[in-house]
This record gives sequence, C-alpha cells and structure tokens, in this order.
Amino acid sequence: MAETTAVRIFVLDGRPVHVHSCSGGSSRQSHTWECDSPYCEVMKDDCPDHGGSERVRLGKEPWRGR
Ligand SMILES: [Zn+2]
Ligand SMILES: [Zn+2]
Repeated sequence: MAETTAVRIFVLDGRPVHVHSCSGGSSRQSHTWECDSPYCEVMKDDCPDHGGSERVRLGKEPWRGR
C-alpha cells in the first residue's frame, strides 16, 4: 500500500483533486486552492495567481515533448 498523507483526495468531474494551501503572495491572504494535477508532491504551495508555478496538467507534461 502506498504511503498516504493527511491530505484528503477527492474527485471532481471524475478527476482526482487535491487542495493546496497558498500563502497569498504579497496580499498575504492565505487560502486553499484545488488542483487536479497528478504530479504534485507539496501541498503547501502558492497558486499560479500568487506567484506559484503553473501546475503540470495531465497530458501537458513538458518532459514528454511534442
Ligand atoms: Zn496540485
Ligand atoms: Zn493564491
């Protein structure tokens, strides 16, 4: 069995979704945001709106090329 974290994974529109916690960037208004990337390892991560990097989405993996 795989190691699991305390983060609850739920499903939205048939895709697994998890919740990140964003520090809020310069606004310092921390909030959570949902993400459906299957490649996230860190749950405490800024959202793209607050300076975080774009999530790698399924089917758009940069390492696949083309
Ligand atoms: Zn994520
Ligand atoms: Zn944010």
